[in-house]
Amino acid sequence: MSDQGNFLHELVGSMSQGAAGNPTVAMIEAAFAHHGLHWRYVNMEVLPEHLGVAVDGARAMGFRGFNCSLPHKVAVIQHLDGLGASAAVMGAVNCVVRRGDKLIGENTDGKGFLKSLESVITPKEKSVVLFGAGGAARAIAVELGLAGTKRITIVNRSQSRGAELVGLLRDKLNLTAELVVWNGDYAVPAGTDIVINGTSIGLYAPEARLPLDVQSLQPEMVVADVVFNPVRTRFLDDAAARRCRAIDGLGMLVNQGIVGIQYWTGIDPDAAVMRQSLAAAMGL
Ligand code: NDP
Repeated sequence: MSDQGNFLHELVGSMSQGAAGNPTVAMIEAAFAHHGLHWRYVNMEVLPEHLGVAVDGARAMGFRGFNCSLPHKVAVIQHLDGLGASAAVMGAVNCVVRRGDKLIGENTDGKGFLKSLESVITPKEKSVVLFGAGGAARAIAVELGLAGTKRITIVNRSQSRGAELVGLLRDKLNLTAELVVWNGDYAVPAGTDIVINGTSIGLYAPEARLPLDVQSLQPEMVVADVVFNPVRTRFLDDAAARRCRAIDGLGMLVNQGIVGIQYWTGIDPDAAVMRQSLAAAMGL
């Protein structure tokens, strides 16, 4: 932290396109304030054709790092000096960290999820069913693979996207992974330990139903949703009614912020302060 007379704030940014009103700004800044850090988290609108100069600008101005969201998660890699382990496997970066004079790309999407999951169950040697094969599901699957999950079944509507993810898990992580093309209500196989909705089904749609045979959920299964608005999705309600332990997507979003702050500042921020400010900023 710099503190020179009229103290200089340390800067962390968020490079996105069309993300005005990003609620994570309030969450990150609440953590900085709570821990007495003279840091600012600044939302910046960056067009794809300006990404390279924006990264150079962040470098020149001594930013401690920045988040980046769509459409920059893959394109940013060419402007960085290196990648963390999971970002290298995924080929996508959502969090850049200045280490010495290098900008290193990390991916906190899956790490945030894992942090939530590990508060309930250890994924090592477990069998997982994961709905979805988009960015969130990919990040989660890679972190689960790195954490020693025994087996992952990807259930996805589009065959091509699902097959691409399964190929990545097999080839890069040597994982036992299979694809089920989603067609009608999916019955979760007995013996599954963890069931995850990694799709956008349910986002801003409390009544939206995952094509799932709810009766196949068993009480010993842990059920998690990436959807954070509403916090209680229909999927989680159905799982709770089947007496499963349920994990919401808001926790994942908060944990992503926590991992980012840990990377940038080295401190362990207060999760309750962050969750409260995020929920308030989202009107939840
Ligand atoms: P993508 O667009 O990359 O992927 C969407 C996925 O959802 C695809 O697998 C897609 O299947 C599937 N899908 C969407 N609609 C349907 C449908 N009607 N029936 C079956 N499958 C469907 O999105 P992301 O992965 O980036 O985001 C997914 C969700 O995760 C969003 O709700 C997002 O808000 C949330 N998220 C939450 C985070 C958190 O911290 N809690 C962090 C990041 C994301 P197909 O391949 O067939 O199109």
